[in-house]
Amino acid sequence: MFNALKARLFQGYRTNAFPDAPPKLPARFRGRPEVDPDRCMEAAPLCPTGAIRQGADGRGMLDLGRCIFCGKCSGHGVAFSLEYRMGVMHREGLIADGTPFSPEEQRNAGIRALCGRSLKIRQVSAGGCAACELDFNVLGTLAWDMGRFGIQVVASPRHADCLLVTGPVSCNMLEALKKCRAAVPEPAFVIACGACAISGGLYAGNPEVKGGLEGILPVDLYVPGCPPHPATLLEALVRFIGRRCKDNQAG
Ligand code: SF4
Repeated sequence: MFNALKARLFQGYRTNAFPDAPPKLPARFRGRPEVDPDRCMEAAPLCPTGAIRQGADGRGMLDLGRCIFCGKCSGHGVAFSLEYRMGVMHREGLIADGTPFSPEEQRNAGIRALCGRSLKIRQVSAGGCAACELDFNVLGTLAWDMGRFGIQVVASPRHADCLLVTGPVSCNMLEALKKCRAAVPEPAFVIACGACAISGGLYAGNPEVKGGLEGILPVDLYVPGCPPHPATLLEALVRFIGRRCKDNQAG
């Protein structure tokens, strides 16, 4: 008992100060890319997911919903910033085309009123590789402790406010995903976590997958990444429920 208390005192308080202080990101962290639309098309042949393409104006753009942040385009009109706040509530917000980006506040008063103090999540892995699932699990550890914000995982969709979907939606999981969504009481929200859930990611075009949630379920929050960093996901969830994070920069 004495040893346990000693260890507890020695360890101190381990939950990180985020979001009141900047998250400590690894030196090789790749955040939201800054794109030169006049140059980035030179990287299009290097991109394994077709995330770089030409817009209607003939200039280049990068779709974060497809990007797996492999870095192959870096230096070809694309530079990765330390901006970890990449969650958006509209699909168009995932297009990086050189226009300034600022994280979008939750403007839906209904969501804020309903979820401002808590969010119960049922996670569905729809053919995921376990990377997004593991990094979402990290939010439940004492380092990130999403329970501080009232955000919790629940076992049954009947107890959930929303589904957090990972994976490219494999054909085998399609029916189960739809049933799970139908079991969530209205109004139910859907969060697409990671490139696969948003667009199919590396698996887009494979006949065994549906290529993400588009056309299957309406999405209320998109969190890009492969997988999204825990700071990116937690900040997006906190912002989604209408709580403000300090406008801090990553350290
Ligand atoms: S970092 Fe993203 S946009 Fe760049 S090459 Fe890799 S997948 Fe394509």
